[in-house]
Amino acid sequence: RTVYVNGEYLPEEEAKVSVFDRGFLFADGVYEVTSVLGGKLIDFAGHAKRLKRSLDELQMANPVTEEELLEIHRQLVARNGIEEGLVYLQITRGAADRDFAFPKDATPTIVLFTQAKPGLADSPMAKTGMKVISIEDQRWGRRDIKTVQLLYPSMGKMMAKAAGCDDAWMVEDGAVTEGTSNNAYIVKGKTIVTRHLGTEILHGITRAAVLRFAREAQMTVEERPFTVDEAKAADEAFITSASAFVMPVVEIDGQAIGAGAPGPVTARLREIYLDEMRKAAV
Ligand code: PMP
Repeated sequence: RTVYVNGEYLPEEEAKVSVFDRGFLFADGVYEVTSVLGGKLIDFAGHAKRLKRSLDELQMANPVTEEELLEIHRQLVARNGIEEGLVYLQITRGAADRDFAFPKDATPTIVLFTQAKPGLADSPMAKTGMKVISIEDQRWGRRDIKTVQLLYPSMGKMMAKAAGCDDAWMVEDGAVTEGTSNNAYIVKGKTIVTRHLGTEILHGITRAAVLRFAREAQMTVEERPFTVDEAKAADEAFITSASAFVMPVVEIDGQAIGAGAPGPVTARLREIYLDEMRKAAV
């Protein structure tokens, strides 16, 4: 596999990052994941925009223009022959002598790599649905910044696996915030409910697109907190993310949601999302 590190395309074995990199020592870095379908990037512009916002929020320098970033993404997709898969991008504050204070003159470290995921869009889970557990949300308070500080979400994923489930929905002050790596939704009647934007959740790029398509299709969207009890009483539930697109959730804490099978609203949103985003892919 060819990876990209600080201006160079290299075989993965030859790519190197300093042991003093603040991404490694402090999780002082941000990332993006963009999916690839038919060899093209899905919503690249949305990811580039959020990357800029994450960097700005952390007063981190942006080492690349959007045009350069697109070119690097395309190069890696081509060099690695990715038809379906992901491009992972990470920018950290760079290497500096270890100190909590941000260094004045560190050069950001930029790393990109691809992951081939054949069958990404034709996922069997879209037909069966996922099972989730609810866990307390113990992450820090700036979840709107897409940092590489992912230990609690990893622990949540392990808790879900230990319970024989696929993911965990995190709960704060009685309401669901989001999944470990996705935004969370319920459907009651004709209404789609998902938590409002704020510092408590990541502002999903897929979320923005799916809500736009839902409104264009005359569906009702309520952006507000919802509880696990509401989810248990919902007709449908689903998650969104750049790599899962729209994925049905059929069980929470051992209780079936609706008919315990993927529902029609979720299926329709997944179809619209994939159709429209494939058309707009770059
Ligand atoms: N929330 C969290 C915590 C995430 O990690 C992700 C995916 N990285 C999302 C939501 C979904 O965001 P997106 O649709 O931009 O992939």
